Amino acid sequence: MINRILDLIFPRRCIGCGIRGTWLCTACEHRLARLPGDHCRRCAQPFTGTAVCARCWSDPPAFDGIVCGFLFEGTARQAIHALKYRRARHLARPLVDALLAVAAPSAPADLIIPVPLHPHRQGQRGYNQAALIARSLGERLELPVREDALVRVRDTPPQVALAGPARLVNLHGAFCADPSVVSGLAVLLVDDVATTGATLREAAGALKRAGARRVEAVILARTP
Ligand SMILES: [Zn+2]
Ligand SMILES: [Zn+2]
Repeated sequence: MINRILDLIFPRRCIGCGIRGTWLCTACEHRLARLPGDHCRRCAQPFTGTAVCARCWSDPPAFDGIVCGFLFEGTARQAIHALKYRRARHLARPLVDALLAVAAPSAPADLIIPVPLHPHRQGQRGYNQAALIARSLGERLELPVREDALVRVRDTPPQVALAGPARLVNLHGAFCADPSVVSGLAVLLVDDVATTGATLREAAGALKRAGARRVEAVILARTP
């Protein structure tokens, strides 16, 4: 009933084409740019070559695998931007459904943990888009979500403002994980988008140092 009233006041419109009655219509979902089959099995970087990209070969990330559905372009980019910066929290669920329609974790997991924002930035934005994605994923996979298990201990400049190598330095020591929650467990580490993978590397490193047995990253999209 409440949903019907809300639909009358704030009618649902597809983020891709604007059609009424849905947040992401089937046609636009099918047009989301899929991650190419040729991509690094560790970090999802699109490339042609062997199973693992040169970077992951020479400097393997702390996460053991990655689930990624789409390239960060077109409607996927538009929808993730709206979720992140324009308070379109309702897009988390259709985006998670779209992700799970094309990709799935490679091993059973015990727990889902979103990449946290620093409390200062979360205060400004009012919510953490990764946590919204994690909650929808938790409902779909029937797994618990712990938003308190990983914290951002340093308020770093936004990654988008920095070039590749500076991103890792920027994030070094930025995260801290709670061993009493993650020790011995297989964790799905959730974020919206990966660009260089620096954030996932640092966050997964903190989870492993706290004793997580396995960490698989889950992102909606990867920059091309
Ligand atoms: Zn549409
Ligand atoms: Zn890689």
